[in-house]
Amino acid sequence: MPKIKRLPDEVIKKIAAGEVVERPYSVVKELVENSLDAKAQNINVYIEEGGLGKIVVEDDGIGISHEELPDALLRHTTSKIASFDDLYYLESFGFRGEALYSIAAVSKISIKSRVRGENNGYELIAHAGEVINLTEVGMAYGTVVTVSDLFFNTPARKKFLKSGQTEAGLIRQFIEKIAILYPGVKFTLFIDGKKIYSSAGIQEQLGLLTRFWGLEKGNLLTLEEKLGEGFFIKGGIALPPAGKPHRKLQVFAVNKRLVRSGILTKAIDDAYESLLPNGLKPLVFLEVVVPGTWVDVNVHPQKLEVKFMDEQKIYLDVRTIIRNKLVNAKNSSLKSFSP
Ligand code: ADP
Ligand code: MG
Repeated sequence: MPKIKRLPDEVIKKIAAGEVVERPYSVVKELVENSLDAKAQNINVYIEEGGLGKIVVEDDGIGISHEELPDALLRHTTSKIASFDDLYYLESFGFRGEALYSIAAVSKISIKSRVRGENNGYELIAHAGEVINLTEVGMAYGTVVTVSDLFFNTPARKKFLKSGQTEAGLIRQFIEKIAILYPGVKFTLFIDGKKIYSSAGIQEQLGLLTRFWGLEKGNLLTLEEKLGEGFFIKGGIALPPAGKPHRKLQVFAVNKRLVRSGILTKAIDDAYESLLPNGLKPLVFLEVVVPGTWVDVNVHPQKLEVKFMDEQKIYLDVRTIIRNKLVNAKNSSLKSFSP
């Protein structure tokens, strides 16, 4: 009979990392979300070799004090929640305290941070999750996380990755989407040393959206509707016949978090039913805000999906309001053409 034994720590680490850190894009997402949680106003992202060579995320947020720097790398250590019920009132992306732990387990990581009021920052270096050094460094206020040699100790994971170009494309799409969701924050993305995207950080959401879709402002309908107590939808949708043969430029967000949502996707598809030429998918940026108790964000390790408690209500309310908006817009444009 095989005996039940506890796995060695380094195996536990790699298994945990496998769930959170699927690919370079997941690292960028976790680090950028940490920067947003730290109330950064400027976030710079640098990618080399599709993120396998190097990923740097630099912010001007609140920082991590040097006493706490080593704790940031531990599993289930977080400054963001203290009890399970806090999940219902979550105002941060993070809550598991697993991202830095997981990323560190499969890379060589440096976390430099300087909090307001301190004369210097501190840099923590770890390889495969083992702390190697903690030293004082000169730096601006904020945090710089550098992840090098991602998956150097999990060669199988590395082998399955798509090309650097695919990864860079995915990362760019993510940065553009999150910049639209947080138009007050300035995001800049550098790929292999070249600046390829920058948002202005001046709340100009409509401009970012038209740029993302390659459309004129006149082709967009903006959304801002209260559907109930604590229940809002915001964002923008493209007027037919503008659409795309794929869904890559669709953006869904729930309570300020980018998500994939089958129910929202279906609500939008059904709202556009018969209004778009065959084969085209709607261009939509839909931000849904609901009371924390209506939604469970804790259903997916990478938090890419959320679960609504009452899916039917969300579906019907969203579909109805968007359908009405589209039909009204169509009718008024028809009227303006008639003599
Ligand atoms: P979580 O975000 O779920 O708390 P992480 O592993 O991503 O877990 O981060 C652990 C902790 O490290 C955070 O709770 C936060 O206190 C701190 N931290 C991480 N990144 C930053 C950052 N860019 N600025 C300030 N603090 C950070
Ligand atoms: Mg986090």
